[in-house]
Amino acid sequence: MPSPAVPVPASVPGGDLAGGLPIGLTSRPGRRQPPPRHLADLDPAGRRAAASQLGQQGFRADQLSRHYFARLTDDPADMTDLPAGDRAELAGALLPRLLTAERELTCDEGTTRKTLWRALDGAYIESVLMRYPGRVTMCVSSQAGCGMACPFCATGQAGLTRNLSAAEIVAQVVAGARALAAGEVPGGPGRISNVVFMGMGEPLANYAHVLGAVRRLTDPVPDGLGISQRGITVSTVGLVPAIGRLAGEGLSVRLAVSLHAPDDGLRDELVPVNRRWKVAEVLAAAWAYAAATGRRVSIEYALIRDVNDQAWRADALARLLAGQLAHVNLIPLNPTPGSRWTASRPADMREFEARLAARGVPVTVRDTRGTQIDGACGQLAATDRAGG
Ligand code: SAH
Repeated sequence: MPSPAVPVPASVPGGDLAGGLPIGLTSRPGRRQPPPRHLADLDPAGRRAAASQLGQQGFRADQLSRHYFARLTDDPADMTDLPAGDRAELAGALLPRLLTAERELTCDEGTTRKTLWRALDGAYIESVLMRYPGRVTMCVSSQAGCGMACPFCATGQAGLTRNLSAAEIVAQVVAGARALAAGEVPGGPGRISNVVFMGMGEPLANYAHVLGAVRRLTDPVPDGLGISQRGITVSTVGLVPAIGRLAGEGLSVRLAVSLHAPDDGLRDELVPVNRRWKVAEVLAAAWAYAAATGRRVSIEYALIRDVNDQAWRADALARLLAGQLAHVNLIPLNPTPGSRWTASRPADMREFEARLAARGVPVTVRDTRGTQIDGACGQLAATDRAGG
């Protein structure tokens, strides 16, 4: 076996932000048919151009945008402002159904619901809606599978199937928004306030489509869904060049960095991409992101019993974060099937948290909603379960 620490030469054209990943990590999906083009892949000008290509007037694209992003429908029968003879063709060409709900699981009295989606090529992905008092968060997938190979994560075990298109990402949120608007989620009709890219996949390894999705989610209605940029969180293993690029987009979305260890020795194992970009580089990119956006960075830390939860590691983490625009989210590990690891003991979690707090580092323990439906952090592994 060649040493996994030796970076693979970037075999992809310059600009592939995940190029040069260590052996075993994949940044590129296999050759597959991309999903059909959808209005949510395009900005408003692109949509008008697409309508013209269909022999339609440009404003038909604006009407379709209103149906999709404001009325949350893609059913031609609802589109009575379009000429009856053109509805099916326009909707078919610009609003193809990209995802079919294969299974829906709920818990927490219906306020947490996980959907297993099948894409047109048969790829499976999952999304989770979580309603809290005063806010609704959608956790979305950015890739089918994931190439980052983190050994404690269910998705990481399956490998990467492919990138999702921007429209496939947006479709997960539109479906949640539709269910909420229809009053299908206990608590009365509501809206989505937050979107976290913490489902399947590494969002920054699918940079262009994730950025497109962020624009569609945050553009004002009816160009987009009108969700506040501040309500969006992009979570990453730490692809340093892509963090730098995101910092330059002029967005105020939150960055979450999945750190999980303060030392390179352990992080090389828990988050294998650390062999390419070390803790110090990842954190430097995070602080530059905070400086550029004014937004506190979330540091994600899954507490794994006797692996990364020692008091000395809490102190080391506190030293790295003290004085920075950061907040630590401690997540008790959700053990995944076949994993040799489990969650930390409650006393060790409390000690870890207290040591960070004592050094002035803001810290919270993440709630683990959706555990019963395998909808909690790191449990999404659609391809496994869809087959079994
Ligand atoms: N690839 C991105 C986003 C997806 S995972 C990332 O790594 O940030 C979202 C978060 O869940 C990450 O912090 C990830 O490390 C964490 N996670 C994955 N598996 C987990 C598990 N079994 N228990 C707890 N957290 C987990």
